[in-house]
Amino acid sequence: MRRKLVVGNWKMHGTRSGVGDLVAGLRSGYCGGECAVDIAVCPPYVFFSQVEKALADTSIRLGSQNLSNQASGAYTGEISAQMIVESGCRFAIVGHSERRVLFGETERLVVEKFSTAQAAGLIPIFCIGETAEQREAGQALLLVGRQVQFLIDELGVEVLSRAAIAYEPIWAIGTGQTATPDQAQEMHRHIRQVVADADAGVADNVQILYGGSVSAVNAADLFAMEDIDGALVGGASLNAADFAVICEAASAGVSS
Ligand code: PEP
Repeated sequence: MRRKLVVGNWKMHGTRSGVGDLVAGLRSGYCGGECAVDIAVCPPYVFFSQVEKALADTSIRLGSQNLSNQASGAYTGEISAQMIVESGCRFAIVGHSERRVLFGETERLVVEKFSTAQAAGLIPIFCIGETAEQREAGQALLLVGRQVQFLIDELGVEVLSRAAIAYEPIWAIGTGQTATPDQAQEMHRHIRQVVADADAGVADNVQILYGGSVSAVNAADLFAMEDIDGALVGGASLNAADFAVICEAASAGVSS
């Protein structure tokens, strides 16, 4: 049975004192102890050390929101996979739609980042998803399937045995407009099928997270779906109490 994974993406939010409060809230909530689900938070880089220290005695892991596709060198403003590893991270989000849309990251660059992250020992969280227009045009399954297929064609399906996939419909991110559990399940099943066409064993084991306005209210219904193995959570991860409810929903029915 696949373990559930809940990842908080803090984006470009927080101050040193605000992060202190948030982490204290995480510690005092459900997530402070040994959890039946895998949990990670992805703060801005400058808070890695603060968060790592504060969560050192918990099972909550650290992840990065991005990384450079380059190993090292004259790349002003970039952060390498090795630096991220040395900062205590286990995960690296790659291809978040905000990176693709606002910073022009291409499918190829995302795949390069995936590969760079994995080579350094990080677990990439590979984000994919369609726009509202693409969904309205009936192309969501086709286009998201192609994003998965491109990764498989470039790097081989086995890379997905050390990675997670996050299905994040762009129209649902930060909008409060969540995909229905049925919409999400349909896409997750499709993604798993694309992986299964290349390797059924990898498909059975890969964690496919849903992301897009996941909240304390809707998480349980999403996690009840067969192919939803957790969540990538933006806004609600900035509220420790809400994040704890989401983690508890993921752990429902799971023994640690
Ligand atoms: C995200 O940033 O990955 C995300 C899903 O954000 P939100 O939960 O705020 O929609």
